[in-house]
Amino acid sequence: MEYFHQKKLNDKCGIFGIYTDDLEVARWAYFGLFSLQHRGQQSAGISVTNGKRIKTYKEGGLVNQVFNEKVLSTLQGNAAIAHTRYSAKDANVERACQPVVDDTQFGIIALGYNGDIINADQLYNELDENGIKLDRYNNTDLFISLMKLSGKDDIVDAISFAMSKIIGGYSCVMLTKDSVIAFRDPVGIRPLCLGILQDKYYCFSSESCAFHTIGATLIREINPGEVMIADKNGLQTYQYALTNKSALCIFEYVYIARPDTTMAGRSIHEARRRMGHQLQIEHPIDGCDVVFGIPDTGTPAAIGLAEASGVRYGEGVIKNRYIFRTFIQPTQEMREYAVRMKLLPIMETIKGKKICMVEDSIVRGTTIKQVVKLFKEAGAAEVHVRIASPPYTYPCFYGIDTTTQDNLVASYKTIEEIRQDINADSLGYLSLEGLIKAVGIDENGETLCHACLSGEYPIKLPREILEKKLSPKYLDKIKD
Ligand code: SF4
Repeated sequence: MEYFHQKKLNDKCGIFGIYTDDLEVARWAYFGLFSLQHRGQQSAGISVTNGKRIKTYKEGGLVNQVFNEKVLSTLQGNAAIAHTRYSAKDANVERACQPVVDDTQFGIIALGYNGDIINADQLYNELDENGIKLDRYNNTDLFISLMKLSGKDDIVDAISFAMSKIIGGYSCVMLTKDSVIAFRDPVGIRPLCLGILQDKYYCFSSESCAFHTIGATLIREINPGEVMIADKNGLQTYQYALTNKSALCIFEYVYIARPDTTMAGRSIHEARRRMGHQLQIEHPIDGCDVVFGIPDTGTPAAIGLAEASGVRYGEGVIKNRYIFRTFIQPTQEMREYAVRMKLLPIMETIKGKKICMVEDSIVRGTTIKQVVKLFKEAGAAEVHVRIASPPYTYPCFYGIDTTTQDNLVASYKTIEEIRQDINADSLGYLSLEGLIKAVGIDENGETLCHACLSGEYPIKLPREILEKKLSPKYLDKIKD
């Protein structure tokens, strides 16, 4: 998927936390973070507490570049939080690394934040008026400053105060000198789950795949608006906001989460496979010689499409494992170059064949155009493209950093125009109904955020916020 970049710091990130009574946890935090590397590759950081003081190490780079034995051996303590971050263009890596550490009415705390604060400007002004000057650079600082501003002497009350002020989708882990606290926005847009290690130690993670790695067991998702504290008394839970709404980001299933994660009771891999089944119902590929996915996220849907169509599943392309996700590259030029570096077509599968390639989504249409070109140059007789999600038409305001709507190709071109533009022989997108069916909504009124596909934003957005990213012709279509 081709994402955009702009000057925002809190985008798609991975967060992890663990509390034990007496174990050294830095290595577990490291392993947990390593499992969340796909959620952000710009920086990594770990904060640990030994009950007396918090120590933090954070730097730009991949988890295994930032941490080594020597660094980990300096991080001693029985509880930790960890953060890995996907950055935006021009972001100052040094200043944007997390966890952010600050002195508060609760002593030193560290915070790892995944998500966005939509009304950040308004909150910065409010803090200014109260004599709290921030450099307007880091939403994590903003959250902590709101906790300070609350004047509350109970940490859950201070967190609740900050949550009541913030509009946005987020999940967080916080470390105090004697506890780990985890919480999630009132509609649960960004994921966060609870696990248990050795039947007694609680841990938190953006995704359950981190629990598998450290030998912990997934217990459940943190509920929307829930605050959980793990400390020497065990686990306490508080419900900050009681909402009848939940709106987990549907793109976790399409693209973001790791396939071995289970999220809200559903296997990511299986959901993607069902997207492939659904694609065959909506856009059959009968007549193709071979089907394959653009690795890694397109692969399970391609397997599902092969199962449903009877078309042979083959290895059409290999991913160069040493090149990271295309959208991580900060400039357009770099992203384009990265496609050729990253995807290596298998001539024997492609040459003279009618191929079907499955991709998770199209944002701008520039990367997929190059991928189709790659296969045509490799001798494909026909290139049919199937997309395991509907047209990405509206910008995200909840922590996935897409730029303004006029850069989203589906907002200004028809599907046929996109097909012609990318030079595919056919192009089929999964419908929203098909995607929701593939994800598997239960019967308890659970819902998902699919605003970027439908324009139905689950958290009401002030018009001045919408105007920043939405094209004028779409503004009036947004329902309150
Ligand atoms: Fe996810 Fe799209 Fe909603 Fe953003 S708008 S949270 S990317 S589903």
